[in-house]
Amino acid sequence: MDAHPGGAGFYLCAMQQAASLQVYKFGGASVRDADAIRNLAAIVRTHGAGRPLLIVVSAMGKTTNALEEIFGLAHAGHDYQTLLAQLTGFHLAVGRELLGPGAGASDEYGALAVAVGDTSLGSLLESLRERLGRMRPGEYDRQYDQVVSYGELLASLLVASVLGADWLDCRPLIRTDRSWREGRVDWPTTERAVQGGVGPRLVRGVVVTQGFVGSTASGVTTTLGREGSDYSAAIFAYCLKAESVTIWKDVAGLLNADPKIFPNTIRYPEISYQETIEMAYYGASVIHPKTLKPLAERGIPLYVKSFLDPAAPGTVIHDCRHGLLAPAFIRKTGQCLVSFESKDFAFISEENLEVIFGALAQARLKINLMQNSAISFSVCLDYNERRLAELLALLREQFAIHYNTDLTLFTIKNYDATSVQQLTAGRQLLLEQRTRQTFQFVSA
Ligand code: ASP
Ligand code: MG
Repeated sequence: MDAHPGGAGFYLCAMQQAASLQVYKFGGASVRDADAIRNLAAIVRTHGAGRPLLIVVSAMGKTTNALEEIFGLAHAGHDYQTLLAQLTGFHLAVGRELLGPGAGASDEYGALAVAVGDTSLGSLLESLRERLGRMRPGEYDRQYDQVVSYGELLASLLVASVLGADWLDCRPLIRTDRSWREGRVDWPTTERAVQGGVGPRLVRGVVVTQGFVGSTASGVTTTLGREGSDYSAAIFAYCLKAESVTIWKDVAGLLNADPKIFPNTIRYPEISYQETIEMAYYGASVIHPKTLKPLAERGIPLYVKSFLDPAAPGTVIHDCRHGLLAPAFIRKTGQCLVSFESKDFAFISEENLEVIFGALAQARLKINLMQNSAISFSVCLDYNERRLAELLALLREQFAIHYNTDLTLFTIKNYDATSVQQLTAGRQLLLEQRTRQTFQFVSA
């Protein structure tokens, strides 16, 4: 713990600084390799200097996917050594490239130079290896969090080392419940802990911490859901009443579609929290859906900027009014369409729906779209083999259930005739729904 600095002057200074605090979030692509981390350092020097700065870092590139794979193998009792060696080798190589071989490094990792305080890259990798070695059968989701959280710890340590910044393990500060892989934040506790734990350190310079991770009251690591680092940045900003949050991405800002999927995208220079929350909800991958609410509550603007062109204007998401926006195209893959029919051809009733919703909640499946007819009820869900099996087991007796997997849910927000025509042409629509602003369909 930090020594308790005395004197009113300290607190005044800390408060004034916190008032102009910036939070920067760097996602996986912006820390994918040594060059990307050097670019990050240049952005911090150019754009982040002169004011207190908290940096929230995601795992490098595809590290989280790799950790999921390693975890899956370890949990199933299969051999994961090759993949673990790759992940270890990769982080060490980046560490060496950025910071040199490590003066007098004596441990087998030879990367002691990548260290802040007592924590080194080697010690983190060693504890990951040890954690995997202690894998037990069962408790899949809980153990997942203990392993998959390492991506952020490793990446943030590398970034802190390169910047010569303070490295903060945020797990004791971001307090969640025990909803493994989707920890729900205990806001009052987190706010107190973040203010006490981060505030004083910001006075001394740049602080680097992790996205995506937190811990329970008893100190067991949790994660906040895939792509949850944006949300972490918003949690910190909310608790510290930051002046702004900037998410540095590989795109020019908030676009009306993912340029990797749709041609001719346009950038929204300015957009309201409300619109963005809806886009994120429908699956626009640019921002994690939980990110906007804490920021909107405290009126903290969110900038989305390109780490490839940091001087470009990007997008500002804040409390604003704007006219009708260009249609936004959102694609959510990996969907599954499940239909329930009552076995006796009875109409779908409130009682039946209550049972179905109860089972969905129990299996922790989220509905992206739903529709009912006289004798059947359909839901479009993110496909998850385990959870779907659990759902089927719960409802099989009462309902005839059919499902299709490998589907895509398309959404057009602020649609018009042209955009609908453009997106539906040549596609078979398994389910379709429209409201005044939103057109959605599920397709193979
Ligand atoms: N590294 C985590 C993930 O890939 C969290 C994040 O990137 O926001 O899901
Ligand atoms: Mg990521």
